[in-house]
Amino acid sequence: MRTILIVGAGQSGLQLALGLQSQGYGITLMSSRTSDEIRGGRVMSTQCMFRTALGHERDLGLNFWDDSAPRIEGLGVSVAGAATPGGHPRVIDWVGRLDGFAQSVDQRIKMAGWMDTFEQRGGQVVIHGTAVSDLDFLVRKYDLVLVAAGKGELVSLFRRDVARSPYDTPRRALAVAYVHGLGPRPEHPGLEAVRCNLVPGVGEFFVMPALTTTGRADILFWEGVPGGPADAFQGITDPSEHLERTLELMERFTPWEYARATKVELTDAGGTLSGRYAPTVRDPVGRLPGGGLVLGVGDVVVANDPLTGQGSNSAAKCAAVYLASIVERGDRPFDEEWMRTTFDRYWRTARHVTRWTNAMLGPMPEHVVNLFGAGVTFPAVAHRIANGFDNPSDFEDFFYDPEKTAAYLDQVMAEAESEEAVAEADPERLAGEADPDGVAGPADLGEVAGPADVGEVAGEADAAVRSIG
Ligand SMILES: Cc1cc2nc3c(=O)[nH]c(=O)nc-3n(C[C@H](O)[C@H](O)[C@H](O)COP(=O)(O)OP(=O)(O)OC[C@H]3O[C@@H](n4cnc5c(N)ncnc54)[C@H](O)[C@@H]3O)c2cc1C
Repeated sequence: MRTILIVGAGQSGLQLALGLQSQGYGITLMSSRTSDEIRGGRVMSTQCMFRTALGHERDLGLNFWDDSAPRIEGLGVSVAGAATPGGHPRVIDWVGRLDGFAQSVDQRIKMAGWMDTFEQRGGQVVIHGTAVSDLDFLVRKYDLVLVAAGKGELVSLFRRDVARSPYDTPRRALAVAYVHGLGPRPEHPGLEAVRCNLVPGVGEFFVMPALTTTGRADILFWEGVPGGPADAFQGITDPSEHLERTLELMERFTPWEYARATKVELTDAGGTLSGRYAPTVRDPVGRLPGGGLVLGVGDVVVANDPLTGQGSNSAAKCAAVYLASIVERGDRPFDEEWMRTTFDRYWRTARHVTRWTNAMLGPMPEHVVNLFGAGVTFPAVAHRIANGFDNPSDFEDFFYDPEKTAAYLDQVMAEAESEEAVAEADPERLAGEADPDGVAGPADLGEVAGPADVGEVAGEADAAVRSIG
């Protein structure tokens, strides 16, 4: 039996451990915390996962929370305009329907549950904060050592890939609060959706439904531009003060979200999190002082900013690729060439995530503002952007290059015009296609920007960016 050591009991480490265990490998899992410590500890993420990543969990029979977690069927984008005496108006707003539902299961529940399952199935868990010196010794005892320790200290084993890591400092200050009591969203009360609010120059504010240790909850998540007004959580240790600051920022920059939040309370004392890190891609092969080699997994090798909600998705995709590559290797050695080939297989998907996320961290170019604005008028645009969260490689075709964006919008407009012509000729057909769940189509979005306003939005966005410096 081939033996594998996995360090780190997060999304990637546990998914791989359970997957390999079910294929008959001898797996040892090293975790710095017990499952009870994880369950009773602090939240670690907002962990919204989309269809493809959830599919990898389902393939392994690990979708234990499908019936209890809220089914997220939509993804919406709002853009705040420049401040007026009445506050920040919302100049773009739409929601696109996801082709498959998304889900956010508090990692405290999921990782603790998966770890217990791994042990119940006969897996060996060693509770130990693993050091490089441990690995130097252990690498000789196993056929393969995988380091899935997230953004912890063991990343120092893996060289930063400068060409793939354009930023060497954090691009956002992160602040998460899990709450109960958020009111329904008036625009689409029957539809569970992740809402991304972009506040140019200030940062982003996300709201998403989740399952946490105390049941159904919503997560309020600020991503503040460093040094800007939403970079306001440093030094806050009291969870209620953290929530208060979250709400103040919502009232100031996203009043339409604040309106639903006047009765919220924290889910539990561990329901807040703040911090920051630089998005980094690393060389996948770590060389230990004694010459042994280890392969990095998940965030260890590709850590993107959570702005696009991709890290857990990527960790699941990475674990799926590595699982296939390990099994295909059969009895042959897990040498350096195999390690690099295995990572390259993953990078084929991961590079799109990194490109898109890093693009979203910069100032929003005018053609992207136009694209987001077009989502208001054209449900096809909203649908495509929303589903890009599941498959970011699609953005290559319509997001980065102004000419491609313009060509795509021309095509959408032409299609809409021909649909309109068909509808005029046959009104009953259009009525039959109306969305029953109230996802906003053009007619539902009275006051938000139409195409004519989008140029102004771009100007407002630029002004806001300049005013923060
Ligand atoms: C605020 C925030 C919001 C996010 N929102 C989303 C989102 O909505 N969607 C999404 O897809 N992603 C999101 N992410 C990213 C996502 O949480 C991570 O990318 C994902 O958890 C990475 O999985 P992993 O297995 O690589 O590492 P982790 O989940 O970090 O797991 C690593 C594990 O290793 C353990 N460990 C560390 N060092 C050692 C050691 N020396 N010895 C033993 N164990 C060790 C850690 O305790 C941890 O349990 C978010 C992240 C943050 C910070």
